[in-house]
Amino acid sequence: MATKECPSCAMNVDDKSTVCPICGYEFPETNKGFVIVAIILLIISLLYFVF
Ligand SMILES: [Zn+2]
Repeated sequence: MATKECPSCAMNVDDKSTVCPICGYEFPETNKGFVIVAIILLIISLLYFVF
Protein backbone atom coordinates (compact mmCIF):
# COMPACT_ATOMS: atom_id res chain seq x y z
CA MET A 1 0.00 0.00 0.00
CA ALA A 2 1.31 3.44 -0.91
CA THR A 3 1.81 5.85 1.93
CA LYS A 4 2.86 9.45 2.23
CA GLU A 5 4.36 11.37 5.13
CA CYS A 6 2.23 13.99 6.78
CA PRO A 7 4.21 17.28 6.86
CA SER A 8 2.38 18.32 10.01
CA CYS A 9 2.85 15.31 12.32
CA ALA A 10 5.44 13.29 10.30
CA MET A 11 3.32 10.12 10.39
CA ASN A 12 2.86 7.83 7.37
CA VAL A 13 -0.74 7.86 6.18
CA ASP A 14 -2.57 6.28 3.25
CA ASP A 15 -1.57 7.89 -0.04
CA LYS A 16 -5.23 8.20 -1.03
CA SER A 17 -6.11 10.14 2.10
CA THR A 18 -6.85 13.78 1.52
CA VAL A 19 -6.88 14.55 5.26
CA CYS A 20 -4.43 13.18 7.84
CA PRO A 21 -6.35 10.86 10.21
CA ILE A 22 -3.94 11.65 13.06
CA CYS A 23 -3.73 15.46 13.09
CA GLY A 24 -6.33 16.49 10.52
CA TYR A 25 -3.85 18.08 8.11
CA GLU A 26 -5.36 18.60 4.65
CA PHE A 27 -3.10 17.45 1.83
CA PRO A 28 -3.07 19.89 -1.12
CA GLU A 29 -3.15 16.98 -3.53
CA THR A 30 -5.49 18.04 -6.31
CA ASN A 31 -3.48 21.04 -7.54
CA LYS A 32 -0.02 19.76 -6.61
CA GLY A 33 1.23 19.29 -10.19
CA PHE A 34 -0.22 22.59 -11.30
CA VAL A 35 1.39 24.44 -8.37
CA ILE A 36 4.83 22.96 -9.13
CA VAL A 37 4.55 23.95 -12.81
CA ALA A 38 3.39 27.44 -11.82
CA ILE A 39 6.34 27.88 -9.43
CA ILE A 40 8.83 26.70 -12.09
CA LEU A 41 7.36 29.09 -14.66
CA LEU A 42 7.48 31.91 -12.12
CA ILE A 43 11.17 31.24 -11.37
CA ILE A 44 12.01 31.09 -15.11
CA SER A 45 10.19 34.34 -15.80
CA LEU A 46 11.93 35.98 -12.83
CA LEU A 47 15.33 34.85 -14.17
CA TYR A 48 14.50 36.36 -17.56
CA PHE A 49 13.39 39.56 -15.85
CA VAL A 50 16.68 39.79 -13.89
CA PHE A 51 18.78 39.36 -17.01
ZN1 LIG B 1 -0.75 14.47 10.39
